[in-house]
Amino acid sequence: MNALELDGVRKDYGTVPAVSTLDLNLGEGEILALVGPSGCGKSTLLRLIAGLEEPDAGTVRIGGDVVAGDGVWRPPERRDVGIVFQDHALFPHLTVAENVAFGLTGLSGARRRERVAEALAMIAMSHLADRYPHELSGGEQQRVALTRALAPRPELLLLDEPFSNLDRHLRTQVRADTLELLRKTGTPAVFVTHDQAEALAVGDRVAVMRAGRIEQLGAPEPVFHTPTNRFVATFMGDADFLPATLAGDTLVTEAGSVQAPEDVVGRVDALEVMVRPHEVVLRPADDGTDGAARVIDTEFQGGFILHTVRLDSGRQLRSLQPHTTHYPIGTRLHAELSYGHPPAVLPNHDAAATNGHHREPARPR
Ligand code: ADP
Ligand code: MG
Repeated sequence: MNALELDGVRKDYGTVPAVSTLDLNLGEGEILALVGPSGCGKSTLLRLIAGLEEPDAGTVRIGGDVVAGDGVWRPPERRDVGIVFQDHALFPHLTVAENVAFGLTGLSGARRRERVAEALAMIAMSHLADRYPHELSGGEQQRVALTRALAPRPELLLLDEPFSNLDRHLRTQVRADTLELLRKTGTPAVFVTHDQAEALAVGDRVAVMRAGRIEQLGAPEPVFHTPTNRFVATFMGDADFLPATLAGDTLVTEAGSVQAPEDVVGRVDALEVMVRPHEVVLRPADDGTDGAARVIDTEFQGGFILHTVRLDSGRQLRSLQPHTTHYPIGTRLHAELSYGHPPAVLPNHDAAATNGHHREPARPR
């Protein structure tokens, strides 16, 4: 049984389709990272799941039970769902222990105290039980918010950009603690973030959302390495694109040839490959021969130097090099594709633009 099932869920605000007829399943104990640019509908989707918004169409099922749609409406307090928001929203006049106890209704005083102690111990916060929120750091406050959401042992946890207000170092730590706690308790979760690196790091699967729709849903590796369109490609990381022509089962580009994925062989439409900066090898031009690429920009990034090179065609590629390799601007060299996996092959963007629209790829035979 799925922990969560959305079936054709839609929500409009006036003429804005915040969530457009969306299907989504979440397995038992699964952590789904929901990522997308600001305004794409991530929070609306969480609010629909939590029962803070009512869908215009479709059904929401939690643990197999319909909670919205089909004429059913279960309010948030009867959905067995925990929520953690960006602004932790602790009650300022209650201590840590009282905050955590807040959602534990229907238990005796003794059982409640026991459950609070257990929940705080799980995240190493027992020593802070009697503090008030203003006596805690941001990271501690967010840990309390998480503990409060998990203490009632919800069937599902929703996290809406929970660590956006924490600085980078703290965020990494609290995120690791959160994941550990979710795994330990086996709680399935939808984790919303606008940070692609965070999505790749936390999700068993990643859903990339744009304008109310899920553009791609899958394990982190395929979403990163083989995005199905330019939006996902550029949102999930730095990406350049090179026109590619098929010669048998080989894709030929200006920066070398690569093995074509099986499902691409035989296509007759104009193609391009996605190239991420770590997939471009730079090789100095041999004595006397000019390389086909020229360095036009370099950017120091600490452990790495990002080189931008211009190819003969005028197209540009970025290449990430270890900090020990620095080719000055103006250097002529060879730039070559080096994938550790089948490349992402997309319909050629410029060809599609010339035609005025995107077409389904033509298939032979
Ligand atoms: P995200 O969380 O991805 O940034 P939201 O779900 O908050 O996006 O918003 C999606 C779209 O719906 C945006 O265009 C936003 O302006 C709109 N929207 C969100 N909440 C409301 C609301 N209560 N009333 C009207 N429009 C809203
Ligand atoms: Mg939001």
